[in-house]
Amino acid sequence: MPGATACAATGGPLYDGLRRPLQDLRISVTDRCNFRCTYCMPKQVFGRDYSYLPQASLLSFDEIMRLAHQFVALGVRKIRLTGGEPLLRKNIEELVGQLAALRTPDGRPLDLTLTTNGSLLARKARALKDAGLKRVTVSLDALDDGVFRRMNDVGFPVADVLAGLDAARSAGLPGIKVNMVVKRGTNDHQILPMARHFQRTGMTLRFIEYMDAGATNGWRMDDVLPSAEVVRRLGEQLPLVPLQPATAGETARRWGYVGAGGRHDPALGEVGVISSVTQAFCGDCNRARLTTEGKLYLCLFASQGHDLRSLLRRPDGVSGEQLQRAIAGAWRGRADRYSEVRGALPRTTGTHVLRRMEMSYIGG
Ligand code: SAM
Ligand code: SF4
Ligand code: SF4
Repeated sequence: MPGATACAATGGPLYDGLRRPLQDLRISVTDRCNFRCTYCMPKQVFGRDYSYLPQASLLSFDEIMRLAHQFVALGVRKIRLTGGEPLLRKNIEELVGQLAALRTPDGRPLDLTLTTNGSLLARKARALKDAGLKRVTVSLDALDDGVFRRMNDVGFPVADVLAGLDAARSAGLPGIKVNMVVKRGTNDHQILPMARHFQRTGMTLRFIEYMDAGATNGWRMDDVLPSAEVVRRLGEQLPLVPLQPATAGETARRWGYVGAGGRHDPALGEVGVISSVTQAFCGDCNRARLTTEGKLYLCLFASQGHDLRSLLRRPDGVSGEQLQRAIAGAWRGRADRYSEVRGALPRTTGTHVLRRMEMSYIGG
């Protein structure tokens, strides 16, 4: 498998039960958010009296770094900070700085990125860039202010997210991506305006199929607009050609805008589609997720995590090698491929359906 590395604790490359290497780690740094996106943290559930994790439950930056060291030793090459809203975590730029200083066993820096709703980006972009953040992904579901305010359900204006994107660009953060979750009948009429807006900007817009993550958003298959339909609608107005994946295990399929010569014109840019529902990509899935309270989840739809925090906080202490063995053991036992088997699972029984974690907890 290309890119797999030797595992110090076990001596061989680290693969899971389906021969997938561990390469990508998503770290959720908070379960809190200042938005209430209807598909992620609906107000009826995440209301005023919702109990977030207490401060003492959260992994400290030192604890996150202890684990990150071991994940990198085991083959992780990419770390994404997420949440909840990661920019709400106090002094997040300090953690970014510490992660940016990590090196892979062959001496390379990590691909270090962060996904944000953009609400605090105008304030934080410069500090994040200075701390060593390599890339940023900003979620934006519509250009129409009314649609966006309704979807974030706290009346947050589009203009402030666009200001955050401008700030990220001015700060010199390369590789800016914009994620739009497409919900049929809610914001699918925003596909073309969003595409037109981000064409020629150097920012890559990605359309994400609305997923059955968590148990609170009332997901129905009817609300999913398949990526194939997104591409068809786009292609009618803005001709597209398929592009090769940039990296193995990439979640998005890339499409380039066609220029005057009938070929992809890089100046026009590209879009991506993430077909988590209609075209599962579990076969390449190299992602692990670390929650705010230190549980390791091996699939977005897993019902249980591996508790690394209690290992970290053992009264008699824990060595790096012990941590590494625990992570490696969990990864070796991994056989998750929920999106590939989704259709065959009953909607009301079965482990995944019984207790599925919320996106805001497990980190999208
Ligand atoms: N708060 C940050 C944000 O919104 O970018 C980071 C966390 S959020 C959980 C990460 C990503 O998950 C966002 O791009 C969001 O749109 C996406 N997301 C959340 N719920 C989703 C769902 N049900 N289906 C598809 N994507 C979802
Ligand atoms: Fe918050 Fe992101 Fe979830 Fe929206 S998608 S509620 S911004 S965590
Ligand atoms: Fe990976 Fe699980 Fe998503 Fe499949 S369903 S791509 S295994 S996170």
